[in-house]
Amino acid sequence: MQKLVLASNNPGKLREFQAMLAPLGIEVLTQEQLGIAEADEPHCTFVENALAKARHVSKLSGLPALADDSGICVTALGGAPGVQSARYAGEPKSDARNNQKLLQAMHGVADRRAHYYCVLVLVRAAADPQPLIAEGEWHGEIAHAERGAGGFGYDPLFWLPQLGRMSAELSCDEKAQLSHRAQALQVLLQRLPHA
Ligand code: IMP
Repeated sequence: MQKLVLASNNPGKLREFQAMLAPLGIEVLTQEQLGIAEADEPHCTFVENALAKARHVSKLSGLPALADDSGICVTALGGAPGVQSARYAGEPKSDARNNQKLLQAMHGVADRRAHYYCVLVLVRAAADPQPLIAEGEWHGEIAHAERGAGGFGYDPLFWLPQLGRMSAELSCDEKAQLSHRAQALQVLLQRLPHA
């Protein structure tokens, strides 16, 4: 496989996938480049949403499609924002408003544990009966204030105690070694040759 379409218009995700897949000779196109509108994400699990996005894009592009459905799950909030991470503070999607809302929800909360979760679904064709599915988790804590200019989304609030840094303070290379997305991609790539 030399070319696949990423079933997302999120520029942060696109940057990370291009950086991780280019060394393997895989070109990542976006659905936007092909004029394909974003699919709905009506489901309450990450994997169902990822499958719906991958099938939608593969059907309309005629190419293999990779979908990432991901989010941040905060223990003290019962796993929220979860599948609602992108739209936690409502429409239109806004990382800044999402981070403000999360900080407010965590005001005075002692248990700061959280993890990012990512599920990747690769379909070789829209009707692929055996999609490749891989998951990754990245554990950390919700900080008390935003810091750092890297990454995207909740990265300025995602504190990594072992590193003593926010994920928004990591370089692209560091995040590509550690993140939930990187972990899921490693699993997917190991399965790819046997697919
Ligand atoms: P999706 O596009 O529906 O999968 O939404 C993913 C959302 O989860 C993003 O818009 C971010 O809010 C959050 N998210 C997922 N991965 C990351 C990450 O690596 N850093 C920061 N936020 C993330």
